[in-house]
Amino acid sequence: MEKKKRFKVRLLPGKCIGCGRCEPACPVDAIRYDEKGEPIIDLEKCIGCLKCVKVCPAAAIDKFLPEGDTGGAEPEETAESEAIGEGEVKRLWRGVWVYVEQMDGKAEPVSWQLLGKGKELAQDLGVELAALVLGNNVEHLVDEAAGYGADKVYLIDTPVLKDYRAETHMRSCVYLVEKYSPEILLIGATGLGRDLAGGVATHLETGLTADCTGLAIDKENRLLEQTRPAFGGNIMATILCEKARPQMASVRPNVMLTPPFVPGRKATLVRESISIEEKDTLTKVLEIVPIQCETSVDITAVGVIVSGGRGLVSAENFRMLQELADLLGGVVAGSRSAVDAGWITHQKQVGQTGKTVRPKLYVACGISGAIQHLVGMQDAEYIIAINKDKHAPIFDVAHLGIVGDVFEIVPAMIEELRKVKNPPVCET
Ligand SMILES: Cc1cc2nc3c(=O)[nH]c(=O)nc-3n(C[C@H](O)[C@H](O)[C@H](O)COP(=O)(O)OP(=O)(O)OC[C@H]3O[C@@H](n4cnc5c(N)ncnc54)[C@H](O)[C@@H]3O)c2cc1C
Repeated sequence: MEKKKRFKVRLLPGKCIGCGRCEPACPVDAIRYDEKGEPIIDLEKCIGCLKCVKVCPAAAIDKFLPEGDTGGAEPEETAESEAIGEGEVKRLWRGVWVYVEQMDGKAEPVSWQLLGKGKELAQDLGVELAALVLGNNVEHLVDEAAGYGADKVYLIDTPVLKDYRAETHMRSCVYLVEKYSPEILLIGATGLGRDLAGGVATHLETGLTADCTGLAIDKENRLLEQTRPAFGGNIMATILCEKARPQMASVRPNVMLTPPFVPGRKATLVRESISIEEKDTLTKVLEIVPIQCETSVDITAVGVIVSGGRGLVSAENFRMLQELADLLGGVVAGSRSAVDAGWITHQKQVGQTGKTVRPKLYVACGISGAIQHLVGMQDAEYIIAINKDKHAPIFDVAHLGIVGDVFEIVPAMIEELRKVKNPPVCET
């Protein structure tokens, strides 16, 4: 059979602008940048797929037929050549994965929220959505993950993974990623998730965008657009990880919506094992002691929040917010200014460096609406803002804006609500 003719590629002198797009586009790692920032093409590795030619914005890469190969058709770009590459391609990164964080077999809701977002990303990429479950006696989470949208679940269920340890969980996670090559890995930005994500990204030598507030797919370039506040939250930056895989992002709880649970939905189970023995681990979990917080109320899990800012002027004035919150069946929270002033604890701070909340009702009292505050509450179902400055940015996200003095509006609301709760008895 006649040998298939193969193009190779070469750099045209003086044209390269050093944009770096060709390197990640090459499926066989045939392009590397030297210390001067110029691409070096390894012709031994090049399979002539011409992906680098297509992505080069400066037309600096050209195809040619090596000596001995005369003529021949344009190379066909098929999923097969990309995936298999006649034995030359190292790997094909495909699929969206979500790490399912759990403790004692109970999953963190952020994992399901990420499956909801992961589904959208997977659909845009035309790939499977997979959940990654690590632990001991956690097989029930397979069906749960399927119900929240996972098509496939990778499971390692073994005693050594009973309690979270950076060492054991990171090694398991890295092992599975290296074996199955997902292109995207999402992890909840909880305390545990942050610990794990950083370790995994470091080991895999890939990028990690922490605390994303938005995730989308650039379909043309098959890249994950990872949006998060940057420069102290003054701008929203969209970050791409072009040169390494998987693209890793962490997202804080409640930033994404929990998808509806579909009972009975099934996923393909891929059961894996890991060769870590307890005697080889450096850390031992002796006891898990839950933190006794001053506040037992988790503001991320409540339906109504009455939140106060610098406009409240003093800690004493938060009492009226508490009264309003009690009448509405909610809790009191605050802006960072209120926390910095010592009027409310950090546990109850809403925003970029506090908590992200999605209550049914958020009442913002004397809060200006700085971007760092908005990223923590703008997805609340209904927002009422009270501010004496009609230009305050909080009104941009409010469903109902009240321009006025919080010391008049809040007492008036309390009075009206009291009437509703305790209607006056009519004499007949
Ligand atoms: C890296 C970084 C992270 C941050 N993280 C957070 C975060 O997580 N959460 C957060 O909240 N902030 C955060 N901030 C701070 C943020 O930039 C703002 O400074 C802060 O949100 C302002 O809080 P505030 O709205 O209470 O105060 P101000 O901005 O001072 O606003 C007070 C508002 O009260 C109104 N007001 C005053 N008196 C009355 C009255 N009598 N009646 C009605 N309205 C009145 C004023 O018109 C004003 O709009 C962060 C900043 C940085 C740089």
